[in-house]
Amino acid sequence: MDKLFTEKLGQSELASREKFLSSFYGFVVGDALGVPYEFRYRGTFQVSGMARYGTWNQPAGTWSDDTSMTLALMENLSEEGTWRTLMEKFVAFRDEGAYTPFQKAFDVGDTCAQAILRFELGFSPLEAGSTDETANGNGALMRIFPLAFSLYEETDFYRRSDVVRECTRLTHGHLRSQVASVLYCELIRNLLQGMALGEAMQETGKNFVHYYNGSTDLMSEYENHFERDLIEGKQNKAAPNSTAYVVDTFSAALWCLQNTNSYEAAMLTAVNLGGDTDTTAAVTGALAGILYGFEAIPENWRKTLQNDQLLKTISQRFCDTVLSQRI
Ligand SMILES: [Mg+2]
Repeated sequence: MDKLFTEKLGQSELASREKFLSSFYGFVVGDALGVPYEFRYRGTFQVSGMARYGTWNQPAGTWSDDTSMTLALMENLSEEGTWRTLMEKFVAFRDEGAYTPFQKAFDVGDTCAQAILRFELGFSPLEAGSTDETANGNGALMRIFPLAFSLYEETDFYRRSDVVRECTRLTHGHLRSQVASVLYCELIRNLLQGMALGEAMQETGKNFVHYYNGSTDLMSEYENHFERDLIEGKQNKAAPNSTAYVVDTFSAALWCLQNTNSYEAAMLTAVNLGGDTDTTAAVTGALAGILYGFEAIPENWRKTLQNDQLLKTISQRFCDTVLSQRI
């Protein structure tokens, strides 16, 4: 661990910081690994490490909107901001390049861009995200993981899921996107409690069924789109789709973890699926970071990340202000 994160800390603080930073850097490194290959077809390239140029013509280690919007959420949590102040941070990201490697947003997803625009037009933050079924990209899933850490002390499932669902609705109002975010954060929570991946997946599914009890729209979204991945676990199924559709991204992340046994292999597998490479790898990376730990993230990848000072500043502040020592 970098000294910056470990000075003058007790054991419990060190342990919780290490888990968060493993997840955070696991996520950002995945984003940066995927950026040069975004939209490329599976089988037309082979990633072996941090590459430069490619789809967005950026230097190696450039991370994208996934990380930018996650940093905005982390900063907002550190400041105890509201959903409105978070939306304002998204506007600053788009217009001023806030939370970016080079003070410029080179990529904003369509549904997120539409939600930011609706917010500017006067929609309340919780009504900004489209509820259309076709607006179920991974743009909320890709920035939601810090909530699993900030909500760790919250023992009530409904209170946790309400916050996660609200945060999702800022850009993605459809139930399916909300369910994906809740499942992902609950999965992280279970991993933080020391469960192995398979157990964490099953627990996540079981709890969801238990809490929603088959009687709500949320439950049918879950049954129709997510249950198979979470309950059945490893089935040697074929490589999944890796589009920007939220179900594909969540499913692909689980598949990458189930079919590899190291952080590095999970990341390369995620990017090599093609399609939405940066988000697939980032969503996988937040989980893989927890599973394999900080030291498993190749140092030469982490050290290649652009504007690491910003990553350090915001993540350290998040650790200082939001992180529970009980994690
Ligand atoms: Mg991206």
